[in-house]
Amino acid sequence: MHIRPPPDPKKENPDLLEQDGVSEGIEALPNRIGRYSKAKRTAIDIAEYIVTSPHAQALALQLDRLKSCGDYLIFRHFFTIDQVKLHGAQLCKQHLLCPLCAIRRGAKALKAYLDRWEVIQAQKPALRPFLVTLTVKDGPDLLERFRHLRAAQRELWKRKQRGQVSSLHDVAGAVWSYEVKRGAGSGLWHPHLHMVALAETMPDQYALAREWHAITGDSYIVDVRPIDQVDPVRGFIEVFKYAVKFSDQSHADTVHAFLTLRGKRLLGSAGCFRGVVVPESLCDDHTSLAGLPFVDLFYRYMPGGYALT
Ligand SMILES: [Zn+2]
Repeated sequence: MHIRPPPDPKKENPDLLEQDGVSEGIEALPNRIGRYSKAKRTAIDIAEYIVTSPHAQALALQLDRLKSCGDYLIFRHFFTIDQVKLHGAQLCKQHLLCPLCAIRRGAKALKAYLDRWEVIQAQKPALRPFLVTLTVKDGPDLLERFRHLRAAQRELWKRKQRGQVSSLHDVAGAVWSYEVKRGAGSGLWHPHLHMVALAETMPDQYALAREWHAITGDSYIVDVRPIDQVDPVRGFIEVFKYAVKFSDQSHADTVHAFLTLRGKRLLGSAGCFRGVVVPESLCDDHTSLAGLPFVDLFYRYMPGGYALT
């Protein structure tokens, strides 16, 4: 049975380890501006690709929004407590096309679920978070592979609900997200999902692999590992990172993934993680800081990146 070697989160998600909501002081702002500049630059590249592609006409509306996404950003620095919040921005909210919106979507979901985890932890201190990864075999048809993965995931949960023997039997709550990329060896589509599962004891990886193979018929590659309880961010980030890795795939693949997966729910939850509301706005919520003094920093996107104006 093949068990994956542990991924190095730093290597897998170098950007996301400094993700918004994790370090928010003014000293972290230059890095944040750098990340956003890079994301905006890639968004412009993707827009330029679409203009020259056969999809230009069909995606005219999306293209307009993508081009102007994040033209300016207003950060609010609450200097007495050294907290920087993204206060204003015109964002396109097309996280499968736009790296900038993908970063913000991930940050917002990460914060919402970390907040819920804190509440759950206080109520049920015996629960521990585990990172569970489920994969299906690579294939040429992204939609077919995505549906296969989604159906298998649903079946896995149904077994638990039906009271069948299930390796996730003791899982009290879970949040998961789908990610698609091309398999490193095969070059074919490789959808998979990462899940934070809450349980008192770690789900048995070997039992899960057997069960997953029985359900999928084509894959027993699963991974289960504990998430650090003192610093759960690293583990949670794995679930709330991009649905696609813009830097690792061609713009043609980005557009194909967008056309295939748009409108589909790529984030799901169950049990005590159900009902978490991820706010609509991609800006930061700072209502709890109302009344504190602040300065606003206005950044405009220039050809070289964001510049303070
Ligand atoms: Zn955007």
